[in-house]
Amino acid sequence: MNKKHKKLAVLPGDGIGKEVVDEALKVMNAVADKRSLHIDLSFADVGGAALDKYHIPLPDETLQLCLESDAVLLGAVGGPNWESQPHHLKPERALLKLRQELGLFANVRPAKVYAPLIHASTLKAEVIRDIDLIVMRELTGGIYFGEPRGIRQNGKEKIGTNTLVYSSSEIERIARAAFDMAGKRRKKVTSVDKANVLDSMQLWRDVVCEVAKEYPDIELNHLYVDNCAMQLVRNPGQFDIILTGNMFGDILSDEAAMLTGSIGMLPSASLGKYTAMYEPVHGSAPDIAGKGIANPIATIASVAMMLKFSFDMPGEADAIEHAISAVLDDGYRTPDLMEQGKKRASTGEMGDLIVEALTQTLES
Ligand code: NAD
Repeated sequence: MNKKHKKLAVLPGDGIGKEVVDEALKVMNAVADKRSLHIDLSFADVGGAALDKYHIPLPDETLQLCLESDAVLLGAVGGPNWESQPHHLKPERALLKLRQELGLFANVRPAKVYAPLIHASTLKAEVIRDIDLIVMRELTGGIYFGEPRGIRQNGKEKIGTNTLVYSSSEIERIARAAFDMAGKRRKKVTSVDKANVLDSMQLWRDVVCEVAKEYPDIELNHLYVDNCAMQLVRNPGQFDIILTGNMFGDILSDEAAMLTGSIGMLPSASLGKYTAMYEPVHGSAPDIAGKGIANPIATIASVAMMLKFSFDMPGEADAIEHAISAVLDDGYRTPDLMEQGKKRASTGEMGDLIVEALTQTLES
């Protein structure tokens, strides 16, 4: 059989970034070993690591490598060493520039509860039992980028302005991405806006309704953002895909994420015009960096998303998710998830256990 060749740009970044990326690569290599897949790995610096070497958070070589690759795997950026940098040289600027240059207009964050972790959530087990949703957030438009913006003096007063602007083509492309994804899942899109107050959100709703006509088998409903925030804690099982703009998505995706309990479990994908990027939702966790105790599952689950969305290997992606579930079922926990009676695993041990479970599935 012909081997599939894929070029992967690996940007470990700062803090626990390298530790969790190492484990995710073990899992990626296990898939490559058992399937006809050749992964060509290229490593590059980003964030604080790049600042230390090149005095900028996103060197041109790193960006070029990302543009030439089939996918990007990123760990995390930032930390106390670089906090005093001016705004344009903060490690986190690298993420904004990567989104912009790679045209990453859709951020995809799944929130799913692994049965063995059901008690890690602050919500009641019966409320979160059925959570399996995705927040699809528009990432390159809306109020975070709209013009005019800024703070100006007006007599004795200062006036701060930001502009919530969306064009119909921006709404159309993210809506299509949401409907396409819903078609591969439970076929339901909830579009979240504030059309009762904001004109740009009325346009959002109108365009989403237009796009929906092309997808007659997908159920569409609309919620105002305040109601959606409430429904997420009241009955999150009702959602399949939540489609929303940049700022509402920023807030709702964090809310949805916390339903599942631990930040160390949450993967994400950013999809767009060129290379897609996969990364855990968490940051560089300077408080635990270098201790070998970070939870690598978010990054491992990000590799599963990569296999599904960029490498067209949904079966292998499911196998990774099953392997994560099996290891948790066996009672292994990194310290962030530790409960009485469970078996404590380091970052490396958790990676090895998942590889072992995955290998068994891929061989059977
Ligand atoms: P953080 O996500 O790094 O950490 C928040 C808390 O969660 C910490 O107590 C940390 O120990 C814990 N945590 C995070 N990931 C974990 C994991 N995998 N396993 C176990 N525990 C985990 O957020 P923060 O502390 O607000 O930010 C730290 C740095 O990371 C800052 O410089 C921030 O700007 C940056 N940051 C980067 C990204 C990114 O690269 N995408 C995202 C968020 C924050």
